Amino acid sequence: MLQTTKRPDSPVSIIGAGIAGAWQALLFAQAGHAVTLHERSDAGMTDATSHWAGGMLAPYCEAEVAEPIISRLGLRSLDIWRRELPDTPFNGSLVVAHPRERNDFERFARMTEGHRRLDAAALAELEPSLEGRFRDALFFPTEGHVEPRRVLPKLHERIRAAGGTIKFGSDVTAQDLANLNPKSLVIDCRGLGARDEQPELRGVKGEMILIETSEVQLSRPVRLIHPRWPLYVIPREDNLFMLGATSIEAEDTGVSVRSALELLGAAYTVHPAFGEAHIVEFGSGLRPAYPDNLPRIGVRDGKISVNGLYRHGFLIAPALAELTLNFVERGQIDNEVMQCA
Ligand SMILES: Cc1cc2nc3c(=O)[nH]c(=O)nc-3n(C[C@H](O)[C@H](O)[C@H](O)COP(=O)(O)OP(=O)(O)OC[C@H]3O[C@@H](n4cnc5c(N)ncnc54)[C@H](O)[C@@H]3O)c2cc1C
Repeated sequence: MLQTTKRPDSPVSIIGAGIAGAWQALLFAQAGHAVTLHERSDAGMTDATSHWAGGMLAPYCEAEVAEPIISRLGLRSLDIWRRELPDTPFNGSLVVAHPRERNDFERFARMTEGHRRLDAAALAELEPSLEGRFRDALFFPTEGHVEPRRVLPKLHERIRAAGGTIKFGSDVTAQDLANLNPKSLVIDCRGLGARDEQPELRGVKGEMILIETSEVQLSRPVRLIHPRWPLYVIPREDNLFMLGATSIEAEDTGVSVRSALELLGAAYTVHPAFGEAHIVEFGSGLRPAYPDNLPRIGVRDGKISVNGLYRHGFLIAPALAELTLNFVERGQIDNEVMQCA
């Protein structure tokens, strides 16, 4: 049985330094716990799903397809992102559509909150590169976005500054850690790597392409309504744009010709100058998901696992870490997210 109420300095070992484990480590270290974060890959983190993500913090847009729990966790997480990393860009998100997807666009507007409608002139004022491209748009002003490959090292730095230790190249099991220090609480954030103990986890493939051009300037993610996938263009530093993301029930890696055509074609229809952009990278990641596609904090056999972040890891990881901390320190249970065996 897990002892739920821990002294502030109780040692906590976290396995997996992706977005789930990084936020757990930061909040536990800040609360005064002696935190060690174990990550089997190196600091480049290319094995983590988090490395391939878009990094959108979009609780309102995601409500079109996600359960209300994602919005609840997402909205709480926005506050934590703002508190812990105040330089996180909160420039909002845009949703646009071509005339043939008009009905889907209107449906998106009905299914979501937290937006206002922009006409073509207001859109051009907000994003001058999109002048003349769309009749109107939905603007979600309070949403944000982070650049995963920059924000993960930043979080790791913050963990160290809060007194935590990070061990890269450390491929461990919960049992190894329990043998090392029976008093340590283990939090398993291994994503798909936890399938040895949780066979119900599956990977949902997401493909992305990174392109580079100085011909288009955007200050916020732009989602293009598409009948199959939420396609988006996310601006990154150094004239880079991430095009994402497919959602395929497959666990192979790489990017198919069909997906590449769709992603690049979508970008070209957002702005023809993307046709002249340089392709920098093709890649894909496997989103860790339970059968219901909902996140879960599991408490079992003296160990906690945080997994199933699916399409929303960056959006919900801070709130999941807060819930875990509240459980460990105060015994608080969130029935929607936690499963205690
Ligand atoms: C193309 C794409 C776009 C996406 N866009 C968004 C988005 O815009 N917004 C959003 O919120 N989410 C997005 N996601 C989803 C998000 O990326 C995932 O929800 C999130 O990355 C899952 O994080 P995680 O920490 O659970 O897993 P991971 O990032 O995979 O981290 C798990 C870590 O555990 C390590 N590990 C495994 N086993 C061991 C072991 N035995 N010992 C030590 N370490 C171990 C792994 O090396 C890995 O680094 C996207 C995903 C994809 C693929």
